[in-house]
Amino acid sequence: MANEYVLEGIDGPGLSNSIILKHSAAAIDTGAKGFMELVPGHITVNEATFIFPEGFPAVRVALQEQRLRLSCQCNAAAERLCQHQAQVLYNLVNRNELRIFFDDKLRNERIRKAAADYGLENAPEPAAYFQVELQNKKAVIRPAIPGLLPITRDSFGALQEALFSNAGPALPRGAAWSPDTVRCIVIRQHKYYKHLHIELYEAAATKDGKIKHPLTLLQPVDYIWALDDPRQIRFFTAITRFQQPEGGKRTATDIESLQAIIANPLQLPFYYHNSDVSEHVSVSSLVPVRVSALKHPISLTVTSAGPFL
Ligand SMILES: [Zn+2]
Repeated sequence: MANEYVLEGIDGPGLSNSIILKHSAAAIDTGAKGFMELVPGHITVNEATFIFPEGFPAVRVALQEQRLRLSCQCNAAAERLCQHQAQVLYNLVNRNELRIFFDDKLRNERIRKAAADYGLENAPEPAAYFQVELQNKKAVIRPAIPGLLPITRDSFGALQEALFSNAGPALPRGAAWSPDTVRCIVIRQHKYYKHLHIELYEAAATKDGKIKHPLTLLQPVDYIWALDDPRQIRFFTAITRFQQPEGGKRTATDIESLQAIIANPLQLPFYYHNSDVSEHVSVSSLVPVRVSALKHPISLTVTSAGPFL
């Protein structure tokens, strides 16, 4: 059975060393090695569990309506705080990264400071939009709403980097088209991850200009060097982005790249790779397709939620 001790009429900001002393069973050496280094197994606003380094005992603390309840697994008499409960309280009172979970004054100060980065410092209740977490022995204030973004120079820089990064491989010296061949664009899905792949191929041509075996994968960067037309440069650069696309989010640059490919300034034929026929790109697994942008743009409706537009 856990012994429980309750401190009545107490709130977070009122927690102090003298209160612990007043309720402790015996004098405690707070300077002992490791005394102030307890790590909570779980901590959230007004509630925490600490397990002592030896694995025993576990102490639970909960603050509710000016009642601070502490329970401990040891069998000490319940008239006073046992040494474990006292040690937990000393840690809570004197270490701000733990105290912030119980002291709403301290917590609101820190949240208001963090809220300034989000333009919410003057919101009536900034605490409604943030939560506190313990990470690597530090209390971290995080937005409670996943989409809430800070508006600092750093975060804008990071966002811009993510959206408009154009870093690509260095361009080698220019190459020229071989005569008597057909160049074409092949659209296909990644075998496992289903990402969109767009590749440039060269094939021998039949008399009537159709592609025939064998097909050779070309590196678009090899041709960029020799081009002057900005539309053609955009076209080949865009293909490089889809040769080895990364999974996950599509960026604004991806959309611009797709538009540059669809513009097709060299009027190259497009083919879709039918992986049901063969997982390899071959004449038999390619289906001619026509690509174009949607005539009627897709519209997106955005509804405002609370103070966020
Ligand atoms: Zn105890």
